Amino acid sequence: LAGKNHYHLFDAEQDRSVRGRHESLARIRQGLADGEFTLRFQPKVHLRNGVVVGAEALIRWQHPERGLLLPALFLPLIEAHPLDAELGEWVIDQVLGQIGRWRAIGLDLPVSVNVSAYHLQRPDFVERLRTLLARHPEVPADRLVLEVLESSALVDLAQAARVLDTCREIGVSFALDDFGTGYSSLTYLKRLAVAQIKIDQSFVRDMLDDPEDLAILEGILGLASAFRRLVVAEGVETVEHGIMLLQLGCEIAQGYGIARPMPAADLPAWSADWRPDPIWSATATLAHS
Ligand code: C2E
Ligand code: MG
Ligand code: MG
Ligand code: MG
Repeated sequence: LAGKNHYHLFDAEQDRSVRGRHESLARIRQGLADGEFTLRFQPKVHLRNGVVVGAEALIRWQHPERGLLLPALFLPLIEAHPLDAELGEWVIDQVLGQIGRWRAIGLDLPVSVNVSAYHLQRPDFVERLRTLLARHPEVPADRLVLEVLESSALVDLAQAARVLDTCREIGVSFALDDFGTGYSSLTYLKRLAVAQIKIDQSFVRDMLDDPEDLAILEGILGLASAFRRLVVAEGVETVEHGIMLLQLGCEIAQGYGIARPMPAADLPAWSADWRPDPIWSATATLAHS
């Protein structure tokens, strides 16, 4: 994939990359029409008491020739293109339907959807979100959580803040994804009505060996507590990660050490069976204040 900042020395090369993009867009549009996109769901859990507090929807492309493709392989191809918003709406629609089906069998969970900066900044975002919610009257709006990157608010913080406020009036809440990797400005936290802060997995991965990452993590937890936001740790891969997070006062987590993203059909049984590691249940959580 050619990076945005590549210089195109020859027109022929430029032409090829433009045509390449056209072809990719057409192929993705076709895949969407043919039902090749699918979702996986990764649970968010309370590390100590074992409650499954939600799930995150993650898109996959079941490509007929190339197999199951991760989003890093196809999302960059539609970045800032109307197809990006189209795919985003498809995901929200699918997730609302899935929440409804789970509720019908007794699994009532908030489910989060990743929303791209481009999609969030569309002038009709809120109106179209209302339309999607209206298509699923059986699903209370507060079961939908939208995960956005800090960078989504970079272009126009005031506008982003308005969108979040309006969504909150409808009942939809937000999470700031990959927190700590962007500007992590205190102003964002003050202005953006996000209920959750998701600590980027890089800090969790490195906190056991790197005192600076640990310090960043502690700083984020202190901030989140001062701003009364829920913190979710991403990338919890080992029992040790969980122990350390609990000792730091972070109780909600997501990661391969708890569960890999799974097909929707597997989540009800997984939720019924999951128990935290006994050492997590026994680890006392320090109160942050
Ligand atoms: P994200 O929202 O930060 O999602 C977390 C990513 O980390 C997921 O990768 C997940 O599978 C992976 N992950 C979870 N636990 C662990 C762990 O313990 N260790 C490691 N190494 N990785 C873990 P995935 O599914 O490949 O998604 C990558 C990114 O693509 C997401 O990052 C999100 O930014 C984007 N994305 C995924 N689905 C969608 C979607 O439906 N719409 C949009 N706009 N973006 C999406
Ligand atoms: Mg996310
Ligand atoms: Mg993330
Ligand atoms: Mg990420």
